[in-house]
Amino acid sequence: MTTRHVILGNGPAGVVAAEQIRKQRPHDSIVMVGAEPEPPYSRMAIPYLLIGKVGEKGTYLRKDPDHFKRQNILEVQARATRLDTKGKVVHLDNGQQLPYDKLLIATGARPISPPIPGVKLPGVYPCWTLENARQIIELAKPGSRVLQMGAGFIGCIIMEALALRGVKLTVVEMGNRMVPRMMTEGAGSMIRDWCIAKGVNVHCSTKVEAIEQGGKPAGLMGKIGAALGMGGVQSSDAPLLAKLSNGETLECDLIISATGVKPNLDFLEGSGLEVDQGLLVDDHMQTNVPDVFAAGDVAQVRDFSTGQKTVNMIQPAAADDARIAAQNMMGLGTETQGSLAMNVLDTLGLIAASFGQWWGSDTGQSVELVRKESFNYLRLEFEGDVLIGATSLGLTDHVGVLRGLIQGKIRLGEWKDILLEDPTRLMEAYLACAQSQSTWKLPSNSLQH
Ligand SMILES: Cc1cc2nc3c(=O)[nH]c(=O)nc-3n(C[C@H](O)[C@H](O)[C@H](O)COP(=O)(O)OP(=O)(O)OC[C@H]3O[C@@H](n4cnc5c(N)ncnc54)[C@H](O)[C@@H]3O)c2cc1C
Repeated sequence: MTTRHVILGNGPAGVVAAEQIRKQRPHDSIVMVGAEPEPPYSRMAIPYLLIGKVGEKGTYLRKDPDHFKRQNILEVQARATRLDTKGKVVHLDNGQQLPYDKLLIATGARPISPPIPGVKLPGVYPCWTLENARQIIELAKPGSRVLQMGAGFIGCIIMEALALRGVKLTVVEMGNRMVPRMMTEGAGSMIRDWCIAKGVNVHCSTKVEAIEQGGKPAGLMGKIGAALGMGGVQSSDAPLLAKLSNGETLECDLIISATGVKPNLDFLEGSGLEVDQGLLVDDHMQTNVPDVFAAGDVAQVRDFSTGQKTVNMIQPAAADDARIAAQNMMGLGTETQGSLAMNVLDTLGLIAASFGQWWGSDTGQSVELVRKESFNYLRLEFEGDVLIGATSLGLTDHVGVLRGLIQGKIRLGEWKDILLEDPTRLMEAYLACAQSQSTWKLPSNSLQH
């Protein structure tokens, strides 16, 4: 008997799950639904699109236009509007109804607009979809005045692309440092100093309180450049004014809103599925309703470090969850080890990483190494003789080792005290302790997602 698999969402989680099922179940039916009018693509590739390193096709998850047809995976472009878990049917906005035996919800997340006047004006965009990338490319010309609201994970990742486009960049962040929800105070402050040294105008502990239309056109140089066809600022018909909580008013040609995202759960109202910050799943990626699974940015999964359920919105976690969900949709009983917080970001060339319980534990010990002049930073968090979390800046060699020690829950024994004295001896500690204890292998390129 064949099974009808329906997959809602065609981002990395949806695609990985669909392909995994097809590999092992050649005769099952697989329908993959995506709400955006684009082939399946990777949001991670958007910064590369912004700097022209890839064209739009370069962001597509699968380059062959017939890939899914060849795999006998039916693609439907529509938005799921309602889920009837009793009747096992998904309702779509094109009027179609999709019956399923096994359902995967992989609808990802969407940006949250801060509740400030003017946030919907033309010229204010998030950087989340391919459509947003087109809007940004249109307005972020050399010499354009760009204000970025928010300096979280996505905000930091796109700064490099904006800087390379030659814009005059200002970043306004509510927290007292950059990436406040992913990095320690020491690391976040150092990233701020790095950005300032690179010519970005950074305001921390500051809010944009209102946006209005009516600033003056961009500077003369930009206009002359545009007139000469040099790709300078071309249109400043509707420049914007951003009013900041520190009393300043900034004129901008583009405002990028990078103030956070939330899982796409609205269509699940009345479905009986348990939601919290995300869609709650067990270690099999199954929701509280049989035959309904979730993976990726939409799912709230057990955290590897804390055991609490958490949304971990990074692409490697989406792909890992999707593989596990797919196995269980086929009845193969695979479990997650828990989702490891693993944030690696490149802010204008400064590589920052935080892993596991980077904020530490009340009962643990920690050590912090700060080298301000060279923008090097390392903080290790221990519980007993096990490394439970870490934050690093500018120390790319250590990234794989940190992950290995944390994910392998390696007992460090006497090496813990050595590391408390000199945290840079991580590689030695790894070699001395990890090889014999862990089944987890150091990845060959630990910076790759
Ligand atoms: C600019 C940018 C840079 C990033 N860089 C990195 C990085 O360097 N490293 C990293 O790990 N992560 C990065 N991320 C995050 C990463 O892209 C996400 O974690 C990843 O896309 C999650 O995959 P997903 O499949 O769960 O969701 P998504 O990729 O969001 O895909 C979900 C899909 O579901 C569709 N959908 C939504 N609602 C419905 C509905 N009701 N019905 C049908 N379809 C629906 C959406 O349109 C979308 O196509 C970045 C994100 C952005 C925006």
